[in-house]
Amino acid sequence: MIKFLDLHAQYLSIKEEMDAAIAGVIESSAFIGGPAVREFEASFGNWVGSPHCVGVGNGTDALEIAIEALALPPGSEVILPANSFIATSEAVGRAGLKVVFADVDHQTYVLDPESVRQHISAKTSAIIPVHLYGHPCDMPALMALAAEHELKVIEDCAQAHGARIDGQTVGTIGDFATFSFYPGKNLGAYGDAGAITAKDDALAKRARMIANHGRVAKYEHEFEGRNSRLDGLQAAILSTKLRHLDKWIERRIAVADRYTDRLTGIAGITLPHRGNRARHAYHLFVVRTAQRDALAIHLKSRGIETGIHYPVALPRLAAYANHPQAQVDFFAARMGAEVLSLPMGEHLELDQVDEVCAAIRDFFKS
Ligand SMILES: *Cc1c(COP(=O)(O)O)cnc(C)c1O
Repeated sequence: MIKFLDLHAQYLSIKEEMDAAIAGVIESSAFIGGPAVREFEASFGNWVGSPHCVGVGNGTDALEIAIEALALPPGSEVILPANSFIATSEAVGRAGLKVVFADVDHQTYVLDPESVRQHISAKTSAIIPVHLYGHPCDMPALMALAAEHELKVIEDCAQAHGARIDGQTVGTIGDFATFSFYPGKNLGAYGDAGAITAKDDALAKRARMIANHGRVAKYEHEFEGRNSRLDGLQAAILSTKLRHLDKWIERRIAVADRYTDRLTGIAGITLPHRGNRARHAYHLFVVRTAQRDALAIHLKSRGIETGIHYPVALPRLAAYANHPQAQVDFFAARMGAEVLSLPMGEHLELDQVDEVCAAIRDFFKS
C-alpha cells in the first residue's frame, strides 16, 4: 500500500521530540498565549523571512483577519483564482466584499497575471494570489499590477510553505500572507492552526488585535475583534516540526524529481511545470490526463492512493450558483476533470515512487 499522505509515519520519525514538546506545554499549563506561541511566531517568521508573524486559529481565519485588517472600501472587488480551495473566496464573501474570479496559467496552474489585468475594474481593491499545490505565483508581475492599480495583495500560502519565486520566499512579498497548518499541509499541526505574516508594523499589530478581541492589553479593547488564536500545544507541535521542515521539503522535491524522471515521455499525461524561476514546494504533485478516473481506479487496484485537487472549480460550486461568473469558460474549470494528485510527502521512499511510476506506465501501455 502506498499512502497519499502518512502523518503517522511522520509522527513516529520524531516521536521522542514531539512527545516531550507536548508534555512541556501541559506541564506549564500555558495553553493560550505564553512562551510556546511566542517562540513559534518568532521562529516561523524568521523561517519565512518576514518581520511579523501572528499565530491564528486556522488558515481560513488568517485570510478573514488579513482582509479585515486591510479595511478595504465597502463594495470592493477582490480578484482571486478560479482554482483554489473555497477558503480563499469564502473569506472575501464573508467580509461582505465581491469575489471576482480570474483564470490560472495553463502550465503552472496558479493565478495568471494577464487574466488578473483583464478583471481589474474601478472597484478592485485587492488581489489574493494562491500559491496552489506549492507552486509560487508570478509575484513580480502581480506586484507590478498591484502597484500600477494601487491594489493590496494577500498571498494565500496555505499550500506553499517554503516556495520561492526568483529567489524570494512566498509570504514575504504581499502586504499580508496567510498560512494554514491544517494537519495535511507541508507544515501541519495536530488540529487546526494558522498564521499571518506581514511586513508593515501597523498592519501586523492590527491583525493581532483583530485575532484577540481588539485588545491591546487585558481588558483594554480598542474595537470589537474576534477570537482566533494559535494555542500553546499547536505552537509547540509546529515548532518541533519546523526544525525538520527544510529537510522534508527537500524530500518532496526529490520525490517530484523522481516522478518527473520516470514519467517523462509518456503520451497522455501532463506533468507539473518546472520553470527555473520557481522553487516548487510540492504540497501536491498534480498530473493531468484525459483518462483521470480510469487511471485513479487502476492505481487503487495496485494499492496506490491518489487525490483530486480540485474536482470542481470555485465558480462552479453550488455556493457560487448565482455568481455572475458561475458559467465562465475558465481553463481552471476544465482542469477539474483531468487533475490527479499522486502520493506526495516525506514519507515516500524512491522505490515506492518508482512503483507508482511503473503502474502509470503499465496503464498507458494497455
Ligand atoms: C487549506 C487551505 C486554506 C484554509 O486553511 P485551513 O487551515 O483549513 O482553514 C486556505 N487556502 C488554501 C489554498 C488551502 O489549501
